Amino acid sequence: MNIKPSKIVCVGRNYVEHAKELGNEVPKEPLIFLKPPSSLIAHGEAIVYPAITENLHFEGELGIVIGKRAKHVKAADAFDYIYGYTCVNDVTARDLQRKDGQWTRGKGCDTFCPTGPRVVPRDELDLGKVRVRTLLNGVVKQDAPITDLIFSVDVIIEYVTQFMTLEPGDLIATGTPSGVGPMQPGDTVQVEIEGIGILQNPVIRG
Ligand code: MG
Repeated sequence: MNIKPSKIVCVGRNYVEHAKELGNEVPKEPLIFLKPPSSLIAHGEAIVYPAITENLHFEGELGIVIGKRAKHVKAADAFDYIYGYTCVNDVTARDLQRKDGQWTRGKGCDTFCPTGPRVVPRDELDLGKVRVRTLLNGVVKQDAPITDLIFSVDVIIEYVTQFMTLEPGDLIATGTPSGVGPMQPGDTVQVEIEGIGILQNPVIRG
């Protein structure tokens, strides 16, 4: 896989049980933030645990790869703008996310966006049937159907393209289910979506 997004657009608190587990309200409209392209790593590359955090979390998510320029797209047309789907780990320094009040450090460090292992063309994946699962050292930590998303893929694309032009190759991370938790150096984390595959990354000390 070789995607070079101009931006990585993420949705926060997009599963009811995940919003609750961190003590947050369920959002009334999509909660959008960005990760920088410099945070991207591929399947197999190491997530570097930076010295500036003491609470590094995994967040397994469905990723959308945009196929053509999208601006002011209606939900009914949104799937025309999707090239395909991949797995994303929205790695988060939970302590920095809380402390900073905005999420640039907590979400944006180098290696905080493992993506892969491949991009599956849109028509080859039935979002109504697949689940996102996250395993830490082989133990299932997150497991939820994509249909549990509060704001679905088409609604996210409509919302984002009202204020931001999406370019081919741009990546959208759609939000994580409940079950987020800490990783330690030496751990291995896997994000699995049936039909896409398993995104696996080791965690190493920075
Ligand atoms: Mg997330």
